[in-house]
Amino acid sequence: MRKHIFNAGPCILSDSARENTAKAILDLDGIGQSIMEVSHRGKEFVAIFNETVELFKEVLNIPEGYSVLFLGGGASMQFCMIPYNFLNNKGAYLNTGTWATKAIKEAKLFGEVDVVGTSEDDNFLYVPKDYVVPADADYFHITTNNTIKGTEILKDMDCEVPLIADMSSDILSRPVDVAKYAMIYGGAQKNLGPAGVTFVIIKDEMLESVTRGNIPTMLKYRTHIEKESMFNTPPVLPIFVVRETLKWVKAQGGVDEMNRRAQEKADLLYNAMDDSKMFVGTVPVEDRSRMNICFVMKEEYKEMEAEFISFAASKDCVGIKGHRSVGGFRASCYNAISLESVQVLVEAMKEFEQKNV
Ligand SMILES: *Cc1c(COP(=O)(O)O)cnc(C)c1O
Repeated sequence: MRKHIFNAGPCILSDSARENTAKAILDLDGIGQSIMEVSHRGKEFVAIFNETVELFKEVLNIPEGYSVLFLGGGASMQFCMIPYNFLNNKGAYLNTGTWATKAIKEAKLFGEVDVVGTSEDDNFLYVPKDYVVPADADYFHITTNNTIKGTEILKDMDCEVPLIADMSSDILSRPVDVAKYAMIYGGAQKNLGPAGVTFVIIKDEMLESVTRGNIPTMLKYRTHIEKESMFNTPPVLPIFVVRETLKWVKAQGGVDEMNRRAQEKADLLYNAMDDSKMFVGTVPVEDRSRMNICFVMKEEYKEMEAEFISFAASKDCVGIKGHRSVGGFRASCYNAISLESVQVLVEAMKEFEQKNV
């Protein structure tokens, strides 16, 4: 039986993406070869690749003047590629959690870093609001959704300097005004596909600001833009799954519909914990993530947390254990999880509370 999968990443994929990929692994469109066996330069895969890029541009409404890349190395590789390519004078960063901290650490290897705001004082359980981005920064780096602590920046901000966003865990969950960003990137494994491929949406103009001379070929954005992600062998199978996921998103009604569903699912779960005597959310209302919903048990019930995880598992809800740095629970409600699955979890919370309070 299919479980209710609340894993934070890699995470749930749509049924159509899984089923179509399973078929293509055995035989791609009846050509007698697996998707894993075809040449990345052959006509079958080139068509798949181009369709994936076009679908991504269409679904996310990416304007002219941007390139879409599919690379290896994870979002974590971007943490070093960004400063390697773009940090000439200084990089501005907003520190909103574990991933932002890692991005900052890498940037410091390349030059001056200005951390304009941080919520480290409260274990990153809120998003800093009053900060100033220096006008002489090469770029401003933000993490729009903080997968581990469960906070999110839902609005596309205006920024005087090029804005670069790690959208690993909220891409395709809402419409994005891409024109406000110089670059958007992320690992695919949270809303776009499986682990093994990284998406980069980059404004071509950004290449003009690259002045460092000794960047290794594989770490240069120019290489991948000029070779359309085919400088080396791209992650063929993960890209296929991304295409299937994009087709699914489009068929469901696109990012507007994903946005509506994300709100509906998040409201259901947050309302349940706000009404509860036993469970309590860890993030203030205005900063709550719709993708990674973090909560704990109130002090007097704390010792029952492990028991609730087993209870939820008995209802086929998996992946709700919180990250070790927060404790408690994290229900990740990415695009592919249904409202029905969230209802099952909410019912489990209510039943457990009735039994134990
Ligand atoms: C998961 C995650 C990452 C790390 O992605 P990798 O592909 O594993 O390198 C970075 N940033 C955010 C916001 C994430 O959720």
